[in-house]
Amino acid sequence: MEKVVLSSRPYIRDFTKLELEKLIESNQFPRYRADQILDWVYQKNVRSFDAIKNLPKELIAFLKEKADLNRLELVSKHESFNHESIKFLTRTQDGLLCESVLIVQRGRPRSQVDFGDKLVLGAARAKGRNTVCVSTQLGCRIRCIFCASGKGKFGRNLTAGEIVEQISLIASEIKERVTNIVFMGMGEPLDNYENVIKALSILRAKWGYGLSGRRITVSTSGIPPKLRQFLKDTEGKVRLSVSLHSSNEETRSFLVPINKKYHLDELIKELDFIHQKLKREITFEYTLIGGINDTREEAEGTARLASRLGAKVNLIPYNPIQEMNLETPSKTKIEEFRKLLELKGVVVTVRQTAGRDINAACGQLRLDRTTGATEDVATSTS
Ligand code: SAH
Repeated sequence: MEKVVLSSRPYIRDFTKLELEKLIESNQFPRYRADQILDWVYQKNVRSFDAIKNLPKELIAFLKEKADLNRLELVSKHESFNHESIKFLTRTQDGLLCESVLIVQRGRPRSQVDFGDKLVLGAARAKGRNTVCVSTQLGCRIRCIFCASGKGKFGRNLTAGEIVEQISLIASEIKERVTNIVFMGMGEPLDNYENVIKALSILRAKWGYGLSGRRITVSTSGIPPKLRQFLKDTEGKVRLSVSLHSSNEETRSFLVPINKKYHLDELIKELDFIHQKLKREITFEYTLIGGINDTREEAEGTARLASRLGAKVNLIPYNPIQEMNLETPSKTKIEEFRKLLELKGVVVTVRQTAGRDINAACGQLRLDRTTGATEDVATSTS
């Protein structure tokens, strides 16, 4: 079969404002038209050039003939039983499959909002949130042993446009605004550095989505030489989450193989700098796996690291994947681990396992559709 490749036509979502202005001007249209196009694409979230209303028809014709607005095609969506998450499967122009997840947190009616010092939290909850979990790569090269994304062969990096288009597609499907973005889908964001930085600038720019960096979280397995540059390129404005998974060098190397190249020791030194000199907040993610990293020693080791770095810890009970026979710790065990951390003064959250029934929970997104329990999703468009 002939290999399908990405077209060389300009893809509008891959462009910064400056790049779009150049394209527009070099084709004899006035530069300000770029602002209008970007407003329709990001603020009004149009998914076809024809839906743009205030542009001359010559410009619309030019865009339709010469450029791409969309490069992701919806294949299926699947909603979890409790309606809290929807997994979207899309096809790229070169025929690969990409997964993204919407996590819905409905607000409570205003009348139920607490007062006093709970007001702020209450007000935020009253509004509700639509969080999109985006993929940055098709497959993953880090190959953490417990994560489905790294099983099977690596596809490719997603472009900046393909990363942000996942949000546009979901917003247009649900006909609501997306309020928060987490870079926690397939892939290691820092292993697709340039495209992720560009996607973040499109998300944050006034001419783009105009989202505050506080609403964006990038999760990384922790590649020390890239962390400082990342903070510089994002002005430290985006939330950083580091996948720790163990406070022990050997166990971490077993779980997150990149630890053999960049030792935990080196990662922590880099995080020390980020915490002390750059004064940035860090969150640790910690996938709890029964009998492997849920011991008292691990809780104490993690508490030591978290205290030293002023980091919060987000515990994620292991979500089963087909290839691995690992154990999800019991509720009691998870609570014990949480309490040990809290006793040392660490702020801990336990992530709800949103979307496990549709294989949309952390670590269950995969590229290879021919294996694994997610196969059924492709036929279950709702
Ligand atoms: N590559 C990035 C983003 C991964 S997804 C990173 O490593 O941080 C976000 C989180 O889900 C990571 O902490 C990841 O380790 C975790 N995760 C992966 N597979 C999981 C699984 N099967 N169960 C629970 N958490 C998992």
